[in-house]
Amino acid sequence: MSTPGNEEPRLSPRRKRTPFLKSVHRYFDEAAPHTGLAPGLLRQIKHCNSVYRVRFPVEDDEGNIRVVRGYRAEHSHHRLPTKGGLRFSPEVNQDEVIALASLMTYKCVLVSAPFGGAKGGVCIDPHQSSDGFKERTTRRYTAELLKKNFIGPSIDVPAPDYGTGEREMGWIADTFKALKPDHMHTYACVTGKPLALHGIEGRREATGLGVYYGIKECLECTDIVKALGLTPGVAGKRVIVQGLGNVGFHAADSIQRHGDGIITGIAEREGGIFNPDGLDVDAVFQHRTGTGSILDFPGATNVVNSAELLERECDILIPAALEEQITAENAPRIQAKMIAEAANGPVDAAAAQILRERGIRVLPDLYLNAGGVTVSYFEWLKNISHVGFERMVTGYESQANSRIVEALEQLTGKPVDPAQRKAITDGPSERDFVHAALRASMQEGFHRVYRTWHEKKLPDLRTAAFCYAIDRVSRTYLDLGIFP
Ligand code: NAD
Repeated sequence: MSTPGNEEPRLSPRRKRTPFLKSVHRYFDEAAPHTGLAPGLLRQIKHCNSVYRVRFPVEDDEGNIRVVRGYRAEHSHHRLPTKGGLRFSPEVNQDEVIALASLMTYKCVLVSAPFGGAKGGVCIDPHQSSDGFKERTTRRYTAELLKKNFIGPSIDVPAPDYGTGEREMGWIADTFKALKPDHMHTYACVTGKPLALHGIEGRREATGLGVYYGIKECLECTDIVKALGLTPGVAGKRVIVQGLGNVGFHAADSIQRHGDGIITGIAEREGGIFNPDGLDVDAVFQHRTGTGSILDFPGATNVVNSAELLERECDILIPAALEEQITAENAPRIQAKMIAEAANGPVDAAAAQILRERGIRVLPDLYLNAGGVTVSYFEWLKNISHVGFERMVTGYESQANSRIVEALEQLTGKPVDPAQRKAITDGPSERDFVHAALRASMQEGFHRVYRTWHEKKLPDLRTAAFCYAIDRVSRTYLDLGIFP
């Protein structure tokens, strides 16, 4: 027992963890018996098809040569191209990219994105490296992938992940274009690009917004909310978020802006902040941009050890930083009613079991953060068709709606208010299309998981998501007659 002033040292969650790949395999093994598939077929689906491991030289800012380690794992070739993010992290290793690539395969199935799963990693610290070093590393990594046929619009298509963003994707596209100038669909070699380099409106916020849509859909299910002692809907829910990067920021911002949820805590690398009355997420982001830290945000209290925030009381805890944040070490102290896995692998297999026993509902990563690959799919389609979705529709819809407004005015004898007229007759923008399709994909994905959970009477939503995805992947092999 610990007494005040004599606390037991708190272990870092990562000190008592189940390795990420082992967790993913354990989740797969828990779901596999519920699929009724033959062991050989299950093994084919479970294991990673190919991994490229490379070391390459990059000049640092002092003119010295550093040897950088990189990986690209293609988990499943049942659909091509393969697709998955590229992360920059000093902790990247082969098992980690295989685990992430595996999740990508199942994620794509859940939102009907016709890709196999892949993932890349480069072992550099994105927070300690200069822009020049990152650019040289990204370009060289792209060239290395191309040499071995591990990148291309119909082969394998990277996207942003931890430590990378639009700029890195732009460098990849530009390098690919320079080395493959005669390729018809150059820009479809990577997604998450800047708009000027044939990116798509809505990709930047896609993963976080998808997280919000997923949570919203889940909180509409009366059986789930009742069991958790919550009221339906996002409004008024108290939420703590770990990580204010691309996914965490947009998830928190969407929950606050669109759902009227209350963000009470934000945890970052430098520490955490807490305000039971709610934090203005955008203002926190601006504060961090201005001062370099989320700490000392007006009206909030600082939390020195940000991992401690994960254990505070709230309705929804959203880990949106890295894997293995909730382990057997801290799972018994989690007080959230629900954990929404915006990051990949934030809850390890041992923790998942503890949370299940404690009645804490987990919305699993392989479903919840699939918004990114969903919109990446739309970007890839746009790049291979060389036309934006709105181009062929907006003009027509605008004219058709104008005719309806005119008919209405004639019928009523009253002019429609100009602002209302504009809202009705403006055709949909690219962002309108993307957000609507993202929302529909996340809703459909949730109901695939939810139905499977109920129909097969499975212990949790993660097992249901794995079960559904494994079954769908198996059909490719079964239809080819490869496995009995
Ligand atoms: P990011 O680099 O934009 O942001 C990550 C944030 O987490 C950073 O602000 C970083 O400072 C913070 N962080 C790192 N360690 C932390 C710690 N110990 N405690 C608190 N904060 C910490 O990365 P991202 O793209 O937002 O990715 C985050 C997670 O979401 C990853 O697991 C990634 O695989 C997953 N994901 C990302 C996408 C995408 O589209 N970017 C899609 C699906 C899944």
